[in-house]
Amino acid sequence: MLTTGPRGTKDILPDTIGQWLYVEKTVRDICDLYGYKEIRTPIFEHTELFLRGIGETTDVVEKEMYTFIDRGKRSLTLRPENTAATVRAYLEHKLYADIAVNKLFYIGSMFRYDRPQAGRYREFHQFGVEALGTLNPAIDAEIIMLAVQFLKTLGLNDLKLALNSVGCPNCRPVYRERLQEFFRDKLEELCSDCRSRYDRNPMRILDCKNEHCKELSMGAPNITDCLCDECTDHFEQVKSLLTEAGIEFELDPRLVRGLDYYTKTAFEIQYAPLGAQSAVAGGGRYDGLIEECGGSPTPAIGFAVGLERVLLALEKQALLPEVSQAMDVFVVALGATAQKPAFKLLCDLRAKSIKASMDFAGRSLKAQMKQANKAMARYVVMLGENEVNDSCVILKDMITSDQEKIAIKEVVNKLYAEVKD
Ligand code: AMP
Repeated sequence: MLTTGPRGTKDILPDTIGQWLYVEKTVRDICDLYGYKEIRTPIFEHTELFLRGIGETTDVVEKEMYTFIDRGKRSLTLRPENTAATVRAYLEHKLYADIAVNKLFYIGSMFRYDRPQAGRYREFHQFGVEALGTLNPAIDAEIIMLAVQFLKTLGLNDLKLALNSVGCPNCRPVYRERLQEFFRDKLEELCSDCRSRYDRNPMRILDCKNEHCKELSMGAPNITDCLCDECTDHFEQVKSLLTEAGIEFELDPRLVRGLDYYTKTAFEIQYAPLGAQSAVAGGGRYDGLIEECGGSPTPAIGFAVGLERVLLALEKQALLPEVSQAMDVFVVALGATAQKPAFKLLCDLRAKSIKASMDFAGRSLKAQMKQANKAMARYVVMLGENEVNDSCVILKDMITSDQEKIAIKEVVNKLYAEVKD
């Protein structure tokens, strides 16, 4: 236990951190391009926020939350997603007071207790955006385009954008009734989860992963046939804006998404080669959530992308960049007398913004050269007792293998000229 991380978690080690930084930089660049500003909320929130925000009948709330009582006897929960927390911060800091439409993004880890498998973890990372304050269908289109452009910028293709409208509190009760009618005589055959969903939230039956439930829900009525005029009009406008922008989508009337707060537009981006966990991004409108959390009625929309799945997809398409963490200089010091001047040299190099490191384990010349190679050092500066006595160093070019002896006081300027050239 002491040497194994908890199930469903992953360490990101130095050899892969470059890939994460690359993906995160792409996130920041695209959000900057679209005018979305970063927000960072705490890793944990009051449990109540998620119960209210995500919905008590969802899998996330029923089965997947990491909830604990702290020493002050408060019930807290590690965030399973970041929309509810963003809404909480939006209300707490009255972000609506200065800006009519707040466009925000986040990157961070989320926590869900679920059965781990490829592409599904208990701690995972999401990048997400939220636009709060408008019902304009253009923002739906903008958000979807941002998600698609993010994935395409990374080089991913063969993506499928599934689009639906899940209606609003005006039209959903009609659909709910139609669904209950449809499932009434199949109730006994549904899985136990779906039987309890039947009364509480029958739309979620369409989302069930159980094969028999999937079969039973074939031929179920489509929500898009029950939408009210406002939702129909909104959906038509979103589709037309996406078409105009050249974004391909497939209508999927069964796409209901797992979280209760969605209204109107719902979408998912799938990357089929990922297999069972093919959804890389998902989101939609949540026009009732801000009011549910205690604010005045405010329409909003957002999505989240699973970064582990994005990295898996990039790996599958051989799109992961080689990220070099090469050092400019490695200082090799041999013997006790060389240690101090070597350390001084290291400091002088760094003072000039030259990336430099040295061995701190008193190893042999061979071992230190090996370490320099591993650090992908462009140059090696060597000094032993003789060099210290002569106030010089040996400078080795690691590409050409040429080496020369030069005065210690000249080496920093010479390397600066070489490296910063
Ligand atoms: P959701 O917040 O459930 O709408 O999920 C949005 C995206 O987050 C999904 O499309 C996945 O890419 C990712 N995601 C959700 N749950 C997990 C998980 N347990 N492990 C890894 N990625 C996840």
